[in-house]
Amino acid sequence: MPIDLHNLIDGRFAPALSGGWLEDVDPARDEVVARVPRSGAADVEAAVQAARAAGPGWAATPVAERASLLEEVARGIERRAEELARLESQDTGKPLSLARAMDVPRAVSNFRFFAGAARHQQAGFQDMDGKALNYMLRSPVGVCALITPWNLPLYLLSWKVAPALAMGNTVVAKPSELTPQTASALAEILTEAGLPPGVFNLVHGLGPEVGEPLVSHPLVSAVSFTGGTATGRRVAAAAAPAFKKLSLELGGKNPTLVFADADFEAAVTGAVRAAFTNQGQVCLCGSRLLVQREIYRPFVEAVVARVNAMRVGPPELEVDLGALSSRAHLEKVEQYVTLAQEEGGTVLCGGRRVTLPAPFDRGAFYAPTVIDGLSPSCRTSQEEIFGPVLTVHPFEDEEEALSIANGVRYGLSASVWTRDLSRAHRVAARLQTGMVWVNTWLLRDLRVPFGGMKESGVGREGGAWSLEFFSEARNVCVSL
Ligand code: NDP
Repeated sequence: MPIDLHNLIDGRFAPALSGGWLEDVDPARDEVVARVPRSGAADVEAAVQAARAAGPGWAATPVAERASLLEEVARGIERRAEELARLESQDTGKPLSLARAMDVPRAVSNFRFFAGAARHQQAGFQDMDGKALNYMLRSPVGVCALITPWNLPLYLLSWKVAPALAMGNTVVAKPSELTPQTASALAEILTEAGLPPGVFNLVHGLGPEVGEPLVSHPLVSAVSFTGGTATGRRVAAAAAPAFKKLSLELGGKNPTLVFADADFEAAVTGAVRAAFTNQGQVCLCGSRLLVQREIYRPFVEAVVARVNAMRVGPPELEVDLGALSSRAHLEKVEQYVTLAQEEGGTVLCGGRRVTLPAPFDRGAFYAPTVIDGLSPSCRTSQEEIFGPVLTVHPFEDEEEALSIANGVRYGLSASVWTRDLSRAHRVAARLQTGMVWVNTWLLRDLRVPFGGMKESGVGREGGAWSLEFFSEARNVCVSL
């Protein structure tokens, strides 16, 4: 029996004012698991007004108290960790083991980290040769709109909610309607932790019906959005007339660069992990594998052997890949693989749906796919597929590697595999991406800047960058 999820507005859980519902589908079983409020502009209005009204009280709450509350939220997530992992796996189709190992623990650390960061924050000070003193104040920005995608629902929502609340803002959150369950659970946890009514509001629904009125609402002062580049463009356009603070974490077409001197086995493991973690649905996934020509054939063969051994299956079992997030997304991935073949690509492995016995016979399962022989400039090599599809490309030398790596409109992340220390630093400096990993992938430290260049986004979040985004730095100059 599907359960009913609710919005949280001004401390009250309730359906959409219109009474409309959307269906939340488990993509591994193709089965409706929940009804989601189909909210609209009226719900957004109520949520923004509640957030606005709660603003002064929350901003005046001492930092230590706000931080303690966030720590209580972290404990609340830990107490419900298994349930949250199951909800996340059910909504997204990802392996339960991954939700247990990554999504939920990272949500916990986001709350704990930003509680600590807010506690330890220091103000700035500048003396003007005895003539005057400048000191800096950090004020909350106000009502923040937080919009998140379906690939890492709880992780990405907590990445925004924790610093926004830590800095004294109030929030209206809109998660993807495809994966709403953990956002609703988080709303319960925040409420149980003692967050005053109106400080965190949750409005479920569709992008054009909830996201758009939220972004353009005159009382919303800041928008933090994670999602696709095309949607990001609409969000930026809607936020621009009122000059709202804007942080956009968008798509990627990230390269993995493997030089001939790399630790072969470690690079194979790293490249496969980068390509297929979460069914290739992490914005940081390395979806283009660039390999130096001397080792191209053996390296690609080793990657294909590893990929062929990956287990695709029911998320509850010990599998490497679960289902894709939806049947619509499965069809998009399939269309890209057809396009790749039309563009001259050879499918080395995968390239097909995986059919499982009932109750998974209508699940959105797709075999991890490796495609060779494509030009780096064709559509398949240029556009974000956001699924388990890896294209492989040879290169001669550093120059060519960089030219292919940088030859896309995206600039989110890259990973470089080499034993040559000078080369690692040289290449890292010349890659046009917000993040570079050397001999690793997705090793994350919450203190470092996170974000993309070019069409992968605007602004940085993480550590001090998040605190900065979710506050207004102000200067007071006192003449002596
Ligand atoms: P979308 O851009 O489709 O959606 C993201 C969110 O925006 C959803 O909540 C969506 O609602 C909402 N939305 C849609 N239209 C509007 C609108 N006009 N105004 C305001 N909000 C709107 O992305 P996906 O959910 O498909 O997620 C995949 C994308 O996210 C990929 O491109 C991926 O690279 C990117 N991503 C980027 C990350 C980064 O940090 N750079 C991290 C993770 C993912 P609805 O679901 O109802 O459409």
